[in-house]
Amino acid sequence: MSEHSNPSKVVVLGGGYAGTLAANRLRTRADVDITLVNPRPEFVDRIRLHQFVAGTGDAAVDYATLLGEGVRLAVDSATRIDTVARTVRLTSGRALDYDYVIYAVGSTGVTPPSVAGAAELAFPIAEFESARRLRARLDELPLDAPVTVVGGGLTGIETAAELAEQGRTVTLVCGGTLAPSLSAPGRRSVAKWLSRHGVAVLEAAVVTEVRPDAVVLADGVADGAVRPSALTIWTAGFGVPQLAAESGLRTDALGRLLTDETLTSVDDDRVVAAGDAAAPSGQPLRMSCYAAGPLGAQAADTVLSRIEGTDPAVIDVAFSGSCVSLGRRAAVRQLARKDDSAVNVYVGGRMGARIKEVTCKFAVWKIRREARRPGSFIWPKGGPRPEQPASASHEVTSS
Ligand SMILES: Cc1cc2nc3c(=O)[nH]c(=O)nc-3n(C[C@H](O)[C@H](O)[C@H](O)COP(=O)(O)OP(=O)(O)OC[C@H]3O[C@@H](n4cnc5c(N)ncnc54)[C@H](O)[C@@H]3O)c2cc1C
Repeated sequence: MSEHSNPSKVVVLGGGYAGTLAANRLRTRADVDITLVNPRPEFVDRIRLHQFVAGTGDAAVDYATLLGEGVRLAVDSATRIDTVARTVRLTSGRALDYDYVIYAVGSTGVTPPSVAGAAELAFPIAEFESARRLRARLDELPLDAPVTVVGGGLTGIETAAELAEQGRTVTLVCGGTLAPSLSAPGRRSVAKWLSRHGVAVLEAAVVTEVRPDAVVLADGVADGAVRPSALTIWTAGFGVPQLAAESGLRTDALGRLLTDETLTSVDDDRVVAAGDAAAPSGQPLRMSCYAAGPLGAQAADTVLSRIEGTDPAVIDVAFSGSCVSLGRRAAVRQLARKDDSAVNVYVGGRMGARIKEVTCKFAVWKIRREARRPGSFIWPKGGPRPEQPASASHEVTSS
């Protein structure tokens, strides 16, 4: 295709870290017509939602400061991808024609239906709307009212720590292990901080029921123990929008779009996935903003390769670790091998907090930079993933 003739229409579904970066990167070519579909008019900096809830930070960013010139924002939600007609249907009733779709609808929180009262009474934090409700509830709650955070993963820890630093009385129910993804020394550092700040960490306990003013616990010893909880925050669990499955595309068991290593749907090479909603080779990368950026860039590159009639590259992302904030003045920066397995080295305390803040700023900064200089985003690479096909077996289509 020659530049400026018959622009290829690309519809990017989801304006999070992956979709926004992908939309900006597509501008590497001038002849791509780009529409970004997102349900709200502002970008949600999800990695700051615990701060938003505690009133120590903002999570909404104006898309006008993020999107490159010419990227159209449609404030709407996709309800179906019609791969035969090549249109995306939207909640508003509109339909968008496409040559390619980038599927970047991200992830959601989940409150398990098996836990009585959880869906009705617990507050999830993983999405902007639920975080807003949670913040409003916290605003009306006396400072000394007992708060329970369910989930001993990084989101649960960050939420518990942020609230404890505000002087709240917090219990963290881990359901197994505190911070299972960290190394033993990193975990000990987190436990020490939480204990110093008065967080009651119930590592083995699971919540079996949520009541308006309490949680019921099981820990294998005192099952059925009732613990006062004026507010219960649910951070455990991971879900994804079911749009791919509802559109007849194959997904993994959770609903992430099943792709090959070029992020191309195994059912349709005009649909390319990125971020938390992608399951390359059925082995998704860890839910993270860290991976969403490179995956968004690679999804855009795959689409650009198809437009150009060249073979798309396989995904190549090296992890370097994770970072968990402990309020505003401390954090644990866990180092990891490129396959994301933790090593026994971490940076804690104020230095950890500084690293965490720089990482958070970088998550938004890199999207802006990609808007100014499409194609500029680079990331650490470690070679194709082990046990993955070396290249995709898909035919290349050009529009
Ligand atoms: C409190 C908290 C703290 C976190 N901290 C970290 C951290 O420190 N480091 C880290 O790496 N990760 C962190 N994460 C995880 C990280 O936020 C996610 O992994 C990341 O947001 C995934 O990016 P994404 O672009 O795939 O999806 P998202 O950022 O979830 O964006 C997806 C977008 O698609 C939209 N969408 C959904 N359905 C549709 C539809 N049908 N049509 C159109 N649009 C749709 C959504 O509304 C959303 O705007 C944290 C998460 C939370 C909740």
